[in-house]
Amino acid sequence: MSDCLFCRICEGKIAATITYRDETVIAFKDIGPKAPFHQLVIPIRHIPSLAFAQEEDAALLGKLMRVASKLAAAAGYGESGFRVVMNSGPDAGQTVPHVHLHALAGRELGWPPG
Ligand code: AMP
Ligand code: ZN
Repeated sequence: MSDCLFCRICEGKIAATITYRDETVIAFKDIGPKAPFHQLVIPIRHIPSLAFAQEEDAALLGKLMRVASKLAAAAGYGESGFRVVMNSGPDAGQTVPHVHLHALAGRELGWPPG
């Protein structure tokens, strides 16, 4: 989608610090990091939010988790811990309407969030 910020990052039309890319998923550093390690893992195919994902998207959503886990481990947070968060919809604070998994680490993360 040409008017979607994250689709434009996938297309290389908006710059981002890409940390992972394959045929279905990319990851990049969050522009406003909420922790020392904060990356976003997204499907290249535009899905507006988790609420719009279908049964056939299950493997793709699982892959976001695996990529987030591998990136956190590669940055040294595999054992100390990291958090994955996916906001879906306005009440959850989703601001970019393209599915994205936040991966956060590098400080003690409070619970419950929000
Ligand atoms: P959410 O509020 O869950 O929709 O998360 C959107 C995230 O996208 C926020 O953490 C923003 O800091 C991040 N973000 C917005 N624009 C960009 C961008 N151009 N490059 C990287 N991250 C971005
Ligand atoms: Zn998009």
